[in-house]
Formats: sequence, structure tokens, C-alpha cells
Amino acid sequence: MDENEEGGGLRELPPETCTGHKAHQRIDLMIIFFCVSIKEIVAKGRDFPWPRPESCPRCQGHRVWCHGFVSAFFDGVDGQVFLRRYRCPECRCVMRARPLGYFKRLQASIETIRSSIAFRLENGRWPGGISRSRQGHWLRSLKRRVLAWFGQGWTNRLLEGFDELMLQNENPVCRRI
Ligand SMILES: [Zn+2]
Repeated sequence: MDENEEGGGLRELPPETCTGHKAHQRIDLMIIFFCVSIKEIVAKGRDFPWPRPESCPRCQGHRVWCHGFVSAFFDGVDGQVFLRRYRCPECRCVMRARPLGYFKRLQASIETIRSSIAFRLENGRWPGGISRSRQGHWLRSLKRRVLAWFGQGWTNRLLEGFDELMLQNENPVCRRI
């Protein structure tokens, strides 16, 4: 199969755009950052008053519809967090809201997770400093997600899968597939 070609092509996508790997789920996904408090989002759940973008960031269309929620897990937050989703009826792109301040923290912890998994894959053991069960959980989640998203051919390309998921604004070690 032409897996290498496919992987190479995906890397050229800008980070805010993604193309679903499952053909029937082909969507363009955009992330919109809002300066909102993660604590308040957790406290209010689906009742949190997310701002609505005035226009579509892709086609500038002036109708942006709310489009349900997506649940996400954040380091340091118990349970799932509901993030608002929007949809543009003009160009049909889907937007996902994210708390701005928190994303940087998440990125930092993602970087820690990535280097821990890279160490394990290279050396066959876990680096010190973080509990082994936690690191084992990251690796298991990554395997599950990579196989679910990209298929069996990616069993030995876990780090690559990690990066692809990041490119698609997906948490590579999220507990949900
Ligand atoms: Zn649009």
C-alpha cells in the first residue's frame, strides 16, 4: 500500500485544517480559541455561554450555527469537558471551540507525553520521574487511537501517529477514540 505517500501528503496540511481519514467522515475542522475560563466551563457544562463567532473564519459567511458539543479530556481536570462546536452552512466547515489559556498548558503536557513514549519505544523502558502506570496508560491510549484512526499498518509507526493526531488537533492519548 502507499502508506508512506499518504503520510507525506498529510504533513503538508496546515495545522488548523484536517481531513478525516475515514472517507465517510471527510470534514474540514477548524479550531477557534476563546479567552474563557476552563473552571467555568467545567462548572457549567453544556450551559456554559460560549461566544458565537460572527462570521465563518474560512468563507466569511455570516451565519454560524451551533453544532452540539464535543467532549475532551484535559490534564488536571477530572472527567470530560464539553467544548462547543459550530458549523458554517455555506462552506460546511466545522469549528471547535477551545479555551485559549488552557491549550498552551495542554501542549506542554503533550510534549512531556511524547518524549516519554519516544523514550520507551527507543529504549524499551520508561524514563524516570513519572509513574510507570501513567506512562503505560498513555502508550495504550496512543495505540488504541492510532489503530482506530489509521489502521493496522500503523502498529510500528506510533510516534508518527502521535504527530498526525496532533496535526489534526486531536489529543493522541485521549481516552476516547
Ligand atoms: Zn464557511
